[in-house]
This record gives sequence, C-alpha cells and structure tokens, in this order.
Amino acid sequence: MKKIRVTIWNEYRHEKRSEQVRAIYPEGIHKTIGAFLSECEDLEITYATLDDPDQGMPDEVLNNTDVLIWWGHTAHGEVDDALVERIRQRVYAGKMGFVPVHSGHHSKPFKQILGTTGNLSWGQDQKEIIWNLNPSHPIAAGIPDHFILDVEEMYGEPFYIPTPDEIIFGGWFEHGNMMRAGCTWRRGAGKIFYFQPGHERCPSFHNPYVQQIIKNGVHWAAPADFGYEIPGGCIHIKEPIV
Ligand code: ZN
Repeated sequence: MKKIRVTIWNEYRHEKRSEQVRAIYPEGIHKTIGAFLSECEDLEITYATLDDPDQGMPDEVLNNTDVLIWWGHTAHGEVDDALVERIRQRVYAGKMGFVPVHSGHHSKPFKQILGTTGNLSWGQDQKEIIWNLNPSHPIAAGIPDHFILDVEEMYGEPFYIPTPDEIIFGGWFEHGNMMRAGCTWRRGAGKIFYFQPGHERCPSFHNPYVQQIIKNGVHWAAPADFGYEIPGGCIHIKEPIV
C-alpha cells in the first residue's frame, strides 16, 4: 500500500505557555491530531513545529510531504517567507495538499496560496453547530447532517476568502454568527481544505466527527498521480499536436 505522507505542522507555543491548553492537548495539538490520524493505516505521520530547526520544514521534510496540516496562531509573522513560497510552489505543482485548520486562516501559507487576507470576525467561546452542507462530498463521509461542539471560539462571516470551489460545512454559533466552516479550493494542480474548529482552549480535536473530517480532508487533499510532472512554467507548443 502506498502511504500518504502527512506532515502536521504546529506552532506549538500555547501548549508550552498555558496550563489550561496543556490540560486539553498535553503533548501539543499536533500530537493529538497525529494520534487519531494514525488510526488510518495508509497514513504516515511526521511532526513539525515552529521552534524545530528550519521551522520544522527543511527541504527533506517538505519534499516528502503529500499533505501538510497547518495550525498556527500567535506567531504567524515568524514563519519564514522563503518557506512559505516553497510550500505554495509545492501545492501549485500538485505535489502536496494543504489542510489549514482553525487559526491557520491567517497563516502566511493560507494567504499566499489563496491570495486574500483571510480576515474574519471572531468572538468569545460558545456553542457551535456544524451543519453538513454537502453530504455526498468525500470530506463529509460518515458525518451526520449536523453535530454540536459544546464550546468553540466564534469565527464568523464575513470571511474574506476567494469564493470556495465547494462549501462542505457551515457553522452556526449560539450568539448568532455564521461561518463557512469547511471549504475547498483548487490552486494550480493542488487541493486545499480549510476547517474552522480547533481553538487551543477548546477540545474540538477530541471530537470524533472533527477527527473524521480531518481524516477525510487529508485523503481528499492527497495529490493525484498525474503520471507526468506538472510544468513550472508555460509550455511553448512548437509543432501541431495532431
Ligand atoms: Zn483560536
């Protein structure tokens, strides 16, 4: 079985600073995500954090990543621009899927790949209902028509993203806000899936439906075997094709 090589990148600062966060994610959000992804036999997990050498993403890691999960929040600005550009190129070349979660909406790779600010409205933690808006989509496999997160940070519209190719999930918040909570895009030959739950002070990554959605998202975003290299530039056709 050809395995999908998943790298889980976590800023990994809140967990070190805050006992409250550590109580929910004792070994870091990345290890919690890795633990449930490891239930899938076809996934091979690598961990990367901001304070690792080369910010966890030296070329030998990046070039052996099929799907990159990204959790960042407080230190987006510290992420090296050259690394961000290498990530964008690998996604556009169809060699790597990108799965930013929660505050990854404001990360440099998210903004660089999608080309907008990623700005949204946010507010206090409250109950969220995740509605399944696209039940036949592979990312929604095994997910009921809705499920409830007792507490999640409010992320709401307007969410300044390019119009998604597909909206898989919608978020409703107790105080009245709504959110395009699960969206896909294609950029170049690559695939991107953004999923909104996952605040560091909320236990959403322990929710079985959230876990299923991330598993599904990783499998969906994994690169296709095109059978040829996606060109890095335009191709000059000098002879008739037929
Ligand atoms: Zn948050």
